[in-house]
Amino acid sequence: MKSTVIFEEITRKVIASLEQGHAPWRKTWKFTGIPPQNHFSGHVYRGINSLLFNMEDLQTPYFGTFEQITKAGGRIKKGSKAFNVYFNDLLIYDKNGKRVKEETFKQMTKTQREECRRIKFIRQWPVFNMGCVEGIPVKPSVLEGEFTPHERIAQCEQFIKGVPKPPTIKESLHSRAFYAPLLDTIQIPLIQQFESPEFYYSILIHELAHSTGHPDRLNRSTLVEYAPFGSQTYSKEELCAEITTCFACNYLGIDTPQLQTNSQAYIKGWLGKLHDDPKFVWEAAVLAQRAFEYLTAH
Ligand SMILES: [Zn+2]
Repeated sequence: MKSTVIFEEITRKVIASLEQGHAPWRKTWKFTGIPPQNHFSGHVYRGINSLLFNMEDLQTPYFGTFEQITKAGGRIKKGSKAFNVYFNDLLIYDKNGKRVKEETFKQMTKTQREECRRIKFIRQWPVFNMGCVEGIPVKPSVLEGEFTPHERIAQCEQFIKGVPKPPTIKESLHSRAFYAPLLDTIQIPLIQQFESPEFYYSILIHELAHSTGHPDRLNRSTLVEYAPFGSQTYSKEELCAEITTCFACNYLGIDTPQLQTNSQAYIKGWLGKLHDDPKFVWEAAVLAQRAFEYLTAH
């Protein structure tokens, strides 16, 4: 399986999907069963908030404001850090510069509305993770019956076992999957937390792809530079990991249409954020090919 034709075909598919327009971000947090939400109101955080929470190492998917927590009789543990949630908000002023409530604005005539000045802005609000709260019961992080027992896939297990000088892989009940370069360790949720075993392996391979950049392996600059989230280098490393995953899932015969759509959406997310430039994908694909060759060099 050293055929460059397959690499080119997958890369082309990825690029083709980028040209199809918008696709949602990959929602890895869905794998925990419960999306990040307000513990008290049940409000599910969307968009940038769920993306930001997904970057954190959270103990539970629940959050509450200081007021909500104390009103319910809870205490926030000393030294706990607050997270910000962001909301779109709107300020409306009438023609005389007087503040108008949104409900009043809705009841105005079209002419009156046109005379108003509307200022959109983003409001931030501090919340605490319920894992940092004592004194009140916190809802379970995993719903009963949420887990699906999945059979492990033999060829995937073999592929993972065959990785030369592999990183440490820790599989446990967790809200996140990530590779920690300094510890050379992969954290992955339990296989039964995933929608399907294919998803589990694709995420594990994505993290393995990151680990190929470690100084003891390929010493890939996009990984070892520890670039900040959202930077060009970070995006290229993400693309590299995801394209490596496309190569590997194709090689292992687990690239279901669902998995492909997911992958393409993920890549689109990273690209759309910064570049939307197919050339950027080609550069990442070159790195991905090296990463894939490392993973299969046994
Ligand atoms: Zn990644």
